[in-house]
Formats: sequence, C-alpha cells, structure tokens
Amino acid sequence: MRGLVFPGDRQARIEEFDDPQPGHGEVVVAVRAAAICGSDMHGYRATSAERSASGASGIIPGHEPSGVVHAVGGGVHNVKVGDRVAVYHFRSCGFCPECQGGRLMWCDTRRGYGGPIHGSDADYLLTDARNCLPLPDDASFALGAIFMCVGGTAFQAMKKLDARPGRRIAVFGLGPVGLAGLLYARAMGAEVIGIDRSPQRLELAGTLGADALVDAGAEDVAAAVRRWSGKDGVSGSFETSGTAAAQTVSVDVTGRGGSVAFVGFGSGVPSITPADIIVKQLSLMGSFVFPIDAYYTMLDFVVREKVPLEATITHTVPLADAPDILPAFDRGETGKVILVP
Ligand SMILES: [Zn+2]
Ligand SMILES: [Zn+2]
Repeated sequence: MRGLVFPGDRQARIEEFDDPQPGHGEVVVAVRAAAICGSDMHGYRATSAERSASGASGIIPGHEPSGVVHAVGGGVHNVKVGDRVAVYHFRSCGFCPECQGGRLMWCDTRRGYGGPIHGSDADYLLTDARNCLPLPDDASFALGAIFMCVGGTAFQAMKKLDARPGRRIAVFGLGPVGLAGLLYARAMGAEVIGIDRSPQRLELAGTLGADALVDAGAEDVAAAVRRWSGKDGVSGSFETSGTAAAQTVSVDVTGRGGSVAFVGFGSGVPSITPADIIVKQLSLMGSFVFPIDAYYTMLDFVVREKVPLEATITHTVPLADAPDILPAFDRGETGKVILVP
C-alpha cells in the first residue's frame, strides 16, 4: 500500500509499505478519508535529525481516519467487512481503569497513529476492533474523519465552556479546531468572536457565521474583543492557537466567573499570574481529544442540529497529492484538508 511520510525539514513523500494484516482483535480499515491536523505539522516541521532521532521518519502520519472495514482478525464481533467506521485515534490496552472508563487517550500504554504506530495517511490502517466506531450512512466519511480529532476536541471544549444562548465566546485561532468550535458554539446558541492573523481563515470564519472577527495582525486584540463583549469581557475563551500571546489575551478578556479552554500546544510561555485568575474567579481548563463514548453524543448533536462541520473543508485531494497541499496548510492558508486514497 501507499503511505505518506515526513522525513523532516518540511519534506513529504509517498512511499510503498506492506499491506497490514489483522491479528486477533484487530481490524484493517480501507481509508476513505484522512484529515490533516494542525498537530501533524509538528512532525512535518521537525528537522531530519529530529525525525531520525525520534524514529518517526518512516512512520505514516494521520490520526483522523474513517473508512470501510477491509479485513478482521479472530475474535472481532463488533464490525464486519464492508462496515462504515470512524477510527478512534489512540490504540490502548483496553483493560486499565482509564480504558474501561472510555478514556483511551489517558491509557499508560496508548499508541498514537503517526508515532509510534502507522497512521491513516495511507491506503489501509491497522487498528483495534474497539477503536472502530459505527459511521451511519447519513454521515460522510469526511465528517467521520473530522470527528476523530478536531471535531471531538472542539465539542468537548464547548461543553466545558457551557456554550449556550446569552453567552459570548472568543475563539483564538481559526484553523480547523477553532472553526469547529465556532460552529458548535453557534449551534449551541452562543455568540462568537473569532481571532486570527490569516486573511483566508478570517474570511472562512465569517462565512461560517462568526458574529465578529479580529485580525490579530492589525488590531489590539484585547481592545477589539472588549469593544464587542463590553468592558466586562467574554463568558468563555477557546484558545486553539498555542501562541503565548493569544494564551495571555484569552485569560485577560475573559470576564468574572468565566472559563478558558486551552487546546493549542506551543512553545512560548504566557504571562498569566495567579492574580489574573483569583480576582475574576476564572476556571482554566485543558481539553485533549475526547472519551470514546462522547462520539455518540457528538454524532447525535451534529446530525440533529445539522452542524456544517464539513464546511470547514477547503481542500479534498488524492493521497498522492498530499505533498503538494502541505505547504499551504503549513502556512495557515487552508481550512480542513481531507486526503482521499
Ligand atoms: Zn488531530
Ligand atoms: Zn489502558
């Protein structure tokens, strides 16, 4: 089969791999949609020395997959060949308290697609039967792929921020996870202000229903958010950019009793002091993927409320063309990108 690799220094190429074979309890999924995630860019941007040292230069990236069950190993009863599935994005032991509570992302022996195990930017993906989540006929493969990372992460964050009518939410970073958060917050009845530097992403957020937009490259972000929210600030902030500046402002503009959900990883250190949190009695939270059973709540909400998550997709490209689209994604010039083998 074909698979994408990131050898380092922003190189990307398609290589040939052996087709995976399912062992006991395992499933091989023929990938129909594999979404590119902002977190894939950490591997793409790493130097070739870093990629070699981490052993990841020959590992296929991709952790947002959906597809059709292609082959099953012994002892697999929950899916059969031909079933449509979305694939949960950490493999895990299945038996520890975290796994049995559905929190596969916290299993001590979790293995992420793209490192250390092969991911979904390929023709086939090897996974565990328990990771295969049924994808109904009225949900597209692209939607299934979006659910598996950014869709789930943003949904959990908006639940934590208690998005609902009467609340005003600031979304920092309008990449795919920020845009998904914007759509959920609007569908839950909240008003949303979106903040980014990319003209393309600001325009897309406007099309998707942002109530207000701030160009972080041209405006004082805190002042612009307060002009919209009133001087007391927003009810909640969703920080997806991972930049220290945005993390700092997200806390600054959140009003008394409000909450901030952080999901963006970055290298800088925000200037946030305990006094910023104490007086306003803020709740600062992280959000990381989603417990596996939340898939069903999210699927039900998106189908019932017709949340147009697929509208965050700007490019659907054949797997073979992945190396050509990555530079634009890396520069923040695209929305969600879907690879189709
Ligand atoms: Zn992701
Ligand atoms: Zn476990």
